Amino acid sequence: MLAPYACDPALSRGRRFEEVSAPTRTDYQRDRDRIVHSTAFRRLVYKTQVFLNHEGDLFRTRLTHSLEVAQLGRSIARSLGLEEDLVEAIALAHDLGHTPFGHAGQDALHACMHDHGGFEHNLQSLRVVDTLEERYPVFDGLNLTFETREGILKHCARPAAEALEAIEPGGVGRRFIDREQPALEAQLCNLADEIAYNAHDIDDGVRSGLITLEQLEAVPLFDRYRRAALSAHPAIGHGRGQRRLLYESIRLMLSDQVYDVIDTTRKAIADVAPQSADEVRTAGRPLVGFGQAMRAESIVLKRFLFQNLYRHPQVSAMATAGKQVVHELFDAYCAEPGEMRGGFGDRAAEAGPALSRQRIVADYIAGMTDRFASSEHQRLTGRRLFD
Ligand code: MG
Repeated sequence: MLAPYACDPALSRGRRFEEVSAPTRTDYQRDRDRIVHSTAFRRLVYKTQVFLNHEGDLFRTRLTHSLEVAQLGRSIARSLGLEEDLVEAIALAHDLGHTPFGHAGQDALHACMHDHGGFEHNLQSLRVVDTLEERYPVFDGLNLTFETREGILKHCARPAAEALEAIEPGGVGRRFIDREQPALEAQLCNLADEIAYNAHDIDDGVRSGLITLEQLEAVPLFDRYRRAALSAHPAIGHGRGQRRLLYESIRLMLSDQVYDVIDTTRKAIADVAPQSADEVRTAGRPLVGFGQAMRAESIVLKRFLFQNLYRHPQVSAMATAGKQVVHELFDAYCAEPGEMRGGFGDRAAEAGPALSRQRIVADYIAGMTDRFASSEHQRLTGRRLFD
């Protein structure tokens, strides 16, 4: 059922350390299984997407977000003849490098690392699967296939790409130098990520009370499905029914976006007619995407969420406190590396030109869950910034 333009596991560019193939699983299934069993994957359950983990049991965390991305990605992959297991592997790994406290945590860590190479979550996700996981006797990391790693490294600035290219010539940094596209499975995960968070941030935003259904009437994309849901089921327009109205509107919006991606991508593939995954990479433009109208409406929705949810005073207050925690943890560990557990303290004592003390501290902080970061902050500073 695999299309010629999909990533065929039998044609994989392989792993950095050669391994015997598994008797019953393809290399991409194996990648996915390695990701699910990793330590970094388990930590996603206690990492913030928008809301702090302890603010409510029903809000998305990075784990449930990643599962939703995998679900959307697989279902689109199936209709396009793409490699579902590869899509699942990339989706489950795409947020492994995220710091605690969402984007605020990453911004703070990037500022801390300003003079030491910076910090970027896509690069960190790759670092987790390539280096930081310690599970196998003879190599660091999970030794994933090229195609999964290609999908994990969604963005990469030129200097970082050149650094990667120096370590791994012709590897996952190369396309950012040659300005090529990744395989379709990677392109798809990118879009599935966006579809997933736009939808679930509406859901979490309304449930938290930070945004209202009435406010969302100003967002044409959402309002169209809200009206459709109401006209099909007038009873859900008031009282307790409104929760169903929210879910039904989001459900309709999700399906329509999925169909839009499938249609648009089919057309783009038909135009370019790639005969292999490599022809996708050199097609000169991404082939997975929304149609023009859906793209424009999705931008309006994103802008709404940005202004009304991500910049809501309550979310901003969390972000400010999260940044302070990251900054103060960074200073505390750089001053006293022995305070880091799990071998990080020992590693910092051996830091040198190839691996700075600051990078080791950044790796340690990036791996933290929200609550571990808060409790470490309290232990080291005697101050409590989160209840
Ligand atoms: Mg994501």
